[in-house]
Amino acid sequence: MKDEQTLPDVQQKKTGVSRRTFLKAATGTAAGIGISQMFNPTLVSALEKALKTHPVLWIQGQGCTGCSVSLLNSVDPSIADILLKVISLQFHPTVMAGEGQTAMENLYAVAEEYKGKFSLVVEGAIPLAADGKYCIVGEMNHKEITMLDLTKEIGAKAGSVIAVGTCATYGGIPAAKGSVTGATGVMDVFKKFGIKTPVVNIPGCRPIRTGSSAPLFIS
Ligand code: SF4
Repeated sequence: MKDEQTLPDVQQKKTGVSRRTFLKAATGTAAGIGISQMFNPTLVSALEKALKTHPVLWIQGQGCTGCSVSLLNSVDPSIADILLKVISLQFHPTVMAGEGQTAMENLYAVAEEYKGKFSLVVEGAIPLAADGKYCIVGEMNHKEITMLDLTKEIGAKAGSVIAVGTCATYGGIPAAKGSVTGATGVMDVFKKFGIKTPVVNIPGCRPIRTGSSAPLFIS
C-alpha cells in the first residue's frame, strides 16, 4: 500500500509541496495539455502520479522540431513508457493539445511550483538580437513572450537544463554565417545573463539516432 500513497502522504515533507499546490498543479497540467477529466480520467491519473517522479518542461526555439521527432520515434524505451513511467512531461509545444495563454500559464505555474525540482529541455537555438524578438513563442496578457524570455526565466528556476540538439547547444543552423538573429545555445545565454543552473549539452542533428532516447533521460 505504500506505493499507493499520494504526494501529500509521502512527499510533502521531502518537497515542501502541499496537497493544495499539488492539486492545483495537476489540474493545470491536465488543462495545459488539453486533457479533460471527463474524457480520459485514466490518463489524468497517470499524469498526477507522474508528477511524483520528475516534472519536465520542453521548450522550442529556432529549430526544425527534428529533435522532438527523434524522441517520439523512440522504441527503447517507448515514448509511452517515457511519458507514463519515467518523466512527467508538463509542456511540449509540438505534442500538447493545450495552446495559447492557458498553456503558457501552466508552463509558468509548474516552473514556480516545482522550482529547483524540474528539468527544462531546450530544443532549438535562442536568438539574442533585437531582444529576442526573432523568436516569439507565446503571449500572455497581450505581451509577447520570446524564446529568450523563456530560456532565462524558466531556465533560472529549473534544477537542470538539457540542451538537446546542435541548435540548442551551439546555435546550429540558425547561427550559420549570415544570420541576423544572433542565434546561440543555452550555455551562452546563461553565461551572458549570469544564470547558474547546470546544463547538459547533447549536440547532434538530430541527437537521437538509434531509436533510443535513453541517453537523453540518463543525462
Ligand atoms: S539540432 Fe537539428 S534536428 Fe534538432 S532542431 Fe536543430 S536542426 Fe532540427
